[in-house]
Amino acid sequence: MSTSNKIALVTGSSRGLGKNMALALAKAGLDVVVTYNSQADEAEKVVKEIATLGRRAFALQLNVSQVASFEGFSSKLSQQLKANWDASKIDFLVNNAGIGINRPLAETSEEQFDDLMGIHFKGAFFLTQKLLPMLNDQGGIINISTGLTRFAIPGYGAYASMKGAIETYTKYLAKELGARGIRANVVAPGAIETDFNKAALEQHPEMRGFIASQTALGRIGAADDIGGVVAFLCTDSARWVNAQRLEASGGMFL
Ligand code: NDP
Repeated sequence: MSTSNKIALVTGSSRGLGKNMALALAKAGLDVVVTYNSQADEAEKVVKEIATLGRRAFALQLNVSQVASFEGFSSKLSQQLKANWDASKIDFLVNNAGIGINRPLAETSEEQFDDLMGIHFKGAFFLTQKLLPMLNDQGGIINISTGLTRFAIPGYGAYASMKGAIETYTKYLAKELGARGIRANVVAPGAIETDFNKAALEQHPEMRGFIASQTALGRIGAADDIGGVVAFLCTDSARWVNAQRLEASGGMFL
């Protein structure tokens, strides 16, 4: 079956914010390539949910910290695009996959630093590079950062530094890819309740009240607050939005 539909690939879309982005993109009329690291079953559930929305999806395994695997991933992506949709390219790449590590700077180990770097910056950098030939002109790249690049909460120094790097990288992507009509933007969520911070919220239930008290809209965020922002950036309504950092935090730490 041939497709004239736009296609978005969202890394880490088996759960949390990525899942919400995948569903919001489907609701906006795009077909979606879902990727997961370890939770294949959750990814398949997202694929099925997208089908109930009347859009098409398939899931692929991808560990964004394994740069050496990107060649194989892009081949698999090519094969699946062809087999499923008679397509050869995607239109939007959303670099979302991520983990959180909360550790004071003085106690951050080299291993933790390398894990965060591999997933949040090096992985996103080289995955984007690998997929550039498979990205349609007039398409877009959305990199997921965090409110923590604008404000500082102790314990997130290494994590937020990698996100700062991806914000700078985004500006350069926009500059170098503008000639192809490809836009590159950052979406920076505030604190959103997902598996990402489940343990921290369970260990420190007072965090929820603190976050709500520091947020103009008076609550912690939900995944549903984010997906639509990413979907908007993948529509023609956002065609003049380029090299921007769009924070979706309900107004944290104003
Ligand atoms: P979740 O823990 O809920 O989901 C993480 C997702 O990333 C899962 O799909 C997981 O796959 C995937 N993933 C984890 N590690 C890897 C890896 N090495 N390679 C590929 N995929 C991987 O996190 P969130 O949805 O909350 O976070 C998504 C993004 O949003 C991250 O970049 C995070 O930094 C950012 N963010 C989150 C905020 C929050 O408060 N939640 C705030 C600001 C930014 P699998 O299911 O297979 O394990």
